[in-house]
Amino acid sequence: MSEILKDRAVVLRTYDYGETSLVVSFLTRSQGKIRLLAKGAKKDKSPFSGSLRTGSFGNIVFYFKQERDLHLLKEIENSDIFQNSIEDLERLCIFQAGLEVLDRSVRERDADERIFDLFESFIRLLPRIADPWALLFLLYARLLKLTGFYPATDRCAGCGADLASGFMAQPQAGRITCCACGADGALFVSEQSARFLSRLTGDHLNDIEELSISPEERKEIGRFLHFFFLYHIEGYRLPNALKILKEVD
Ligand SMILES: [Zn+2]
Repeated sequence: MSEILKDRAVVLRTYDYGETSLVVSFLTRSQGKIRLLAKGAKKDKSPFSGSLRTGSFGNIVFYFKQERDLHLLKEIENSDIFQNSIEDLERLCIFQAGLEVLDRSVRERDADERIFDLFESFIRLLPRIADPWALLFLLYARLLKLTGFYPATDRCAGCGADLASGFMAQPQAGRITCCACGADGALFVSEQSARFLSRLTGDHLNDIEELSISPEERKEIGRFLHFFFLYHIEGYRLPNALKILKEVD
């Protein structure tokens, strides 16, 4: 027996299926990550035509069978293709990087509406935010927080000292310390970067559109978040899109 479900969803990836169809990996708000067959999606006159680009959001209707891992897409409504509203290469790469990071952070069928809503606001803010890197870091930091891997950064894990003036991070051990307790090879996070990180992970962030980040902080925060992902999020690697950006810089 299959049931018909409706859900809000974003396209994570698509794969060719036969001559004319696509398998689409969606992150849905209520069912988590699922794969749907979009029959005939590659035909010119398909009703899906144009709405299954990676990163597009929409309301989907699909036939769902509990015991299957491939379901059938029936309709997609009101799809928003954000990719069309992004013009510069840097934002486009950050858009792709955000998608990759999201894809690697969520497991099949493991639904978390907070993660879905976080990603939707990331995509909506991306065309108009002052500094797209600040937004990418917001996504990284909040994904770590929602998956339970974001470390406590207020007190040293060694001596309990207050860390408002910066800290040392050992991502593999998930340990944050003061400079005196830091081990060899620990990553240094300056006072400015530490303050920025605590704003990103705080409960209220009102002026997100004006957030901006200096090149120094970008390096420190980028490295800190990247290594936490590397050691704690299975399957994570540096997004390809960020490698492209490094090459053109
Ligand atoms: Zn200490």
